Amino acid sequence: MADANKKTKVLIIGSGPAGYTAAVYASRAMLDPILVQGVQPGGQLTITTEVENWPGDSEVQGPALMERMLAHAEAVGTEIISDHITALDLSKRPFTATGDRGTTYSADSVILATGAQAKWLGLPSEEKYQGFGVSACATCDGFFYRGKEVAVIGGGNTAVEEALFLTNFASKVTLIHRRDSLRAEKILQDRLFKNPKVEIIWDHVIDEVLGEGGEGAPLGVTGLRIAHRDSGESRDLSVHGVFVAIGHAPSSELVKDQLETHHGGYVVVKPGTTATEIPGVFAAGDVTDHVYRQAVTSAGMGCMAALEAERFLSEQEAAEDTAVAAE
Ligand code: FAD
Ligand code: NAP
Repeated sequence: MADANKKTKVLIIGSGPAGYTAAVYASRAMLDPILVQGVQPGGQLTITTEVENWPGDSEVQGPALMERMLAHAEAVGTEIISDHITALDLSKRPFTATGDRGTTYSADSVILATGAQAKWLGLPSEEKYQGFGVSACATCDGFFYRGKEVAVIGGGNTAVEEALFLTNFASKVTLIHRRDSLRAEKILQDRLFKNPKVEIIWDHVIDEVLGEGGEGAPLGVTGLRIAHRDSGESRDLSVHGVFVAIGHAPSSELVKDQLETHHGGYVVVKPGTTATEIPGVFAAGDVTDHVYRQAVTSAGMGCMAALEAERFLSEQEAAEDTAVAAE
């Protein structure tokens, strides 16, 4: 049975690269942190295959990398808890969090590392081929499509940036958008329209991701079935990779009424730091980063958050000592 009450100097919420890195630094600073893993232990990298841009590993499987981060955090003494935080009260210190199974966490500081989730179209075929030709991250997976034809779905900044990035590898990039105009910035649209490798299919939605494999044979994408938004007329397109770029949703529900957010839910931090507007509450990784959204930048922010939490706690301790001495 879960311990009903836990106290810690540092409560880390989330077990992606940001959370585990914060845990390593906070543990080595002798802060005895508690890390709550959430429903996706290891975070977003557990839903991908090869990661080729984690420094020090020319190729590593995402789930294996996250297992190593977990082992590292445990080895330096972090208490790892399999739980999901359902409520967080930042109105007074110590802060309190409530877990799925009723455990209450009382914390002198909080590192919010709850990440972001790529939005998906919600098609069964899209889910089937995720990691096998369907991706939500061109920076991560574009390299696998050298000389091949790929499609990008979406019409925002992310979709246009992903499409432009993919032209570095792919022989052809087809951007498929559900309307007849993009919402991306004009300068990005200009670059897209001028790129000879890009074709745009307007007013079309995705009906199905077409593929091969299964029952022992390797899975792979072979195409897309798309339909005209108004007429419903459908046709098949031959592609090897499909990049869904219809937006990212930061996992900031826990703090949405307590901390300022921007760009659609990303937690605002003081520039150059991970400090939120509430002293003692820090945000690291994709939950605060609407620009880079990479494992290494998330890990870097996790490091910053732990160092800033340590500084915050030392200052609190010094202030309490001064107050006691003055009595
Ligand atoms: P996440 O990895 O999103 O982890 C968030 C954590 O918070 C999870 O453990 C979740 O369980 C936990 N959590 C959420 N809510 C709660 C809650 N209420 N209570 C407790 N815990 C909670 N980046 C690269 O650099 N290279 C790549 O090759 C690469 N490939 C990618 C492939 C795919 C398919 C995707 C989707 C992303 C990829 N990325 C890649 C991006 C990378 O995964 C993210 O930038 C990174 O994982 C963000 O780390 P994070 O720690 O901020 O959050
Ligand atoms: P976004 O601006 O919300 O755009 C999402 C796009 O996906 C829209 O074109 C939308 O179509 C389309 N879409 C949404 N759901 C869909 C669905 N179910 N099926 C098909 N298409 C769907 O998301 P984003 O591009 O990821 O950008 C998010 C935020 O980050 C924005 O504030 C953006 O400015 C910012 N950003 C900035 C930069 C930059 O400054 N360079 C780069 C990336 C992101 P509709 O247009 O029809 O709604």
